[in-house]
Amino acid sequence: MQNTVTPTHCPYCALQCGMNLTPAADGTVEVSERADFPVNRGALCGKGRTAPAVLASAVRLTTPLVRSPGGTLEPAGWNEALGRIAEGLRGTRERYGADAVGVFGGGGLTNEKAYSLGKFARVVLGTSQIDYNGRFCMSSAAAAGSRAFGLDRGLPFPLEDIPRTGCVILVGSNPAETMPPSLRYFTELKENGGTLIVIDPRRTRTAEQADLHLAPRPGTDLALALGLLHLVVAEGRTDERYIQERTAGWEETRAAAMAHWPEYVERITGVPVPRLREAVRLFCEPEHAMVLTARGPEQQSKGTDTVSAWINLVLATGRAGRPLSGYGCLTGQGNGQGGREHGQKADQLPGYRKLTDPQARRHVAEVWGVDPDSLPGPGRSAYELLDALGTDIRALLLMGSNPVVSAPRAAHIEQRIRSLDFLAVCDVVLSETAALADVVLPVTQWAEETGTTTSLEGRVLLRRRAIAPPEGVHSDLYVLHELAARLGVEKGFPTDPEEVFEELRRASAGGPADYSGITYRRLAEENGVFWPCPAKPSADGAPDTWDGAPGTWDGVPDTGDRVPDTGDRVPDTGDRVPDTGDGVPDTGDSEDASLEASPDAVADDPVRDETPANAGVHPGTGRLFLDRFATEDGRARFVPVSYRAIAEEPDEEYPLLLTTGRVVAQYQSGAQTRRVDELNAAAPGPFVELHPRLAERLGAAEGDPVAVVSRRGRAVAPARITTAVRPDTVFMPFHWAGEGRANTLTNPALDPTSRMPEFKACAVRVEAVRP
Ligand code: SF4
Repeated sequence: MQNTVTPTHCPYCALQCGMNLTPAADGTVEVSERADFPVNRGALCGKGRTAPAVLASAVRLTTPLVRSPGGTLEPAGWNEALGRIAEGLRGTRERYGADAVGVFGGGGLTNEKAYSLGKFARVVLGTSQIDYNGRFCMSSAAAAGSRAFGLDRGLPFPLEDIPRTGCVILVGSNPAETMPPSLRYFTELKENGGTLIVIDPRRTRTAEQADLHLAPRPGTDLALALGLLHLVVAEGRTDERYIQERTAGWEETRAAAMAHWPEYVERITGVPVPRLREAVRLFCEPEHAMVLTARGPEQQSKGTDTVSAWINLVLATGRAGRPLSGYGCLTGQGNGQGGREHGQKADQLPGYRKLTDPQARRHVAEVWGVDPDSLPGPGRSAYELLDALGTDIRALLLMGSNPVVSAPRAAHIEQRIRSLDFLAVCDVVLSETAALADVVLPVTQWAEETGTTTSLEGRVLLRRRAIAPPEGVHSDLYVLHELAARLGVEKGFPTDPEEVFEELRRASAGGPADYSGITYRRLAEENGVFWPCPAKPSADGAPDTWDGAPGTWDGVPDTGDRVPDTGDRVPDTGDRVPDTGDGVPDTGDSEDASLEASPDAVADDPVRDETPANAGVHPGTGRLFLDRFATEDGRARFVPVSYRAIAEEPDEEYPLLLTTGRVVAQYQSGAQTRRVDELNAAAPGPFVELHPRLAERLGAAEGDPVAVVSRRGRAVAPARITTAVRPDTVFMPFHWAGEGRANTLTNPALDPTSRMPEFKACAVRVEAVRP
């Protein structure tokens, strides 16, 4: 076997770390350092380092499964399995109407798959009922970003700006566990003299590294942000000129903040006023500062308003749209950003266009070759879609998600899924959701297929195929192509990802997330391109194609068959992969000079995007909003918000708060990472973090099983006794199924704007489990 290396990206989180893959003798691949990718500079966490184990897992699906008359899943041929799915979807549509068929996608699907899935739902099935699990991830930040800035891109600036700013407030984010290689940005921030403020109810591994850690009661960070803004105003720290020149809506927002006195905020949050004042001082004194949010403030029934409150703070202090400053969201899933841009969201069309916008509908319909009036309108959001299964929605096609574990009120959602007339699932292993399906299709994984993802920075990346998939396994694109044909649509669903991407370019052209100037060739040559990246319109109105120097991308199409491509490989240098996920420090031998600049150097560095490497080609947009925001008048919008409580406050029966989150060795619902021995050894199962005082009251010792009970169910897991959690709060990670399934407990109360469920706070009681 040729000892070649394929540069690509990790299959898991939104950091999308670069890695090199080398085919191994056992048919899988070996991971090695890819130091040329600037985001992680070769470092990987344990999940990325062990990702190849899922390729070769003994429980990998390699043949379709079809439910037998006896009720068991039995191996079947592709033809039979696809025929059963087509029959199930067609039969439901004919009997109950198009909206009785649902489609559920995932934030891990590539841009090409997300695009094709949205098109499949609207063109082939004619259903409005499509949404995806990214709704559970960052939809509140997306909604708040859109209404403030006129555009949602998780980070409107690259990660490399973090070490060069003066202060970062990290809200409800724990990158030490979720994306360890990113922690270096915060370490470098501190080394450069900047400060890190972490806001989290738990003293996480990230919070331990903060200069200031504020631990509000779960679900009260909206009040915290309002209290900080109150102090900013009261202490005369607003940037009046900026407010006047670049924003609108300040007076109402100012008035709302002034109603949130610091002492009142202290009573709500439990954070003492002097610490609020300290946070304001640290944030306002430097010339540059930023606020970054993650799931903590976002996964609330008031998540959009909570994020708006943080954005208001950023705007009032004149930070957004200025170099090395602003607001950003640390998106979680691997393609959480791209997954929400290209049409698998209930309310959107490709290019991040609104499904209700007549012009957007016309544009996309023309690319798709259909009548705009034939496109359905917006459908239900993710939880509402899942909650309608078995009633309004009778058949479901599901790709890249495992809602039996990841949805809120999971036991109820499991029940809804069981009540479906027909369920088809595409997955790589028999996840808890796939196990309930009528048909399961085994699909290719990241290293076996080419496609693009868009990282949390808005950087579009090329994930390349390094090995052929196992016999009997096909790509999701192949599945959609075959199903479309069986449902009467012969054209428009290519299996070659580059062909899909070329259509996506045209569909996104002119939209907020404009990819039209991006090609596979550019992605290969430039290590990713930030959107928006419009193409020069050519005479016929079609997006321009690559006109730069000859590239390294060889253009060999990935048609989803088993012939390995030969594209773009370099000799294996045999570098070892630094692993930041298990305590081994990153030696960082590939320093990026731009990150070594002292804060003083900023004045000489306007952080504008570089001159295009190839004249006439748009360089992509690393930093948004430096001149104007994406609103009609170019001004950012303050959104006045007021504090309101979580949907379910503790009471006598359920006196505690539950908050949920992640551990470093598992990813999302654990469908992949729970199949990796090394990760299971590091994180073998769920646990319940209890404060020592609560444990004493329960009579529970470390490791004793305890039951956490909410109005929706009961979960049992060993106690982990720690002062890292507040005495009024318990914490559970949500990666596991079975009796320790944390999402059995969580509250599906929805944010009215983003339709995000309230994963982060609900009322529970804890009981000792006696043998
Ligand atoms: Fe993968 Fe870990 Fe990097 Fe995330 S932080 S992309 S899981 S290696």
